[in-house]
Amino acid sequence: MPSEKAKDNKALVATCPACNKTQSTELMVSLAGRENGQSRYFAVCITCADNGWRPPGFNGVYTFRPR
Ligand SMILES: [Zn+2]
Repeated sequence: MPSEKAKDNKALVATCPACNKTQSTELMVSLAGRENGQSRYFAVCITCADNGWRPPGFNGVYTFRPR
């Protein structure tokens, strides 16, 4: 179940770098990777993550967004 905080953030959307679809961050996970030599998080949709998409420099941590 979504938390009260998540309900407040329902309008938050992000674009998945794997499939380029814009969708609610509730349906996305954060994967730690690297870009331009700096570590950062990539928000990808759960479907793409489950399909095996990983960001460049993926460090092995697959963290579900807190709900
Ligand atoms: Zn996607």
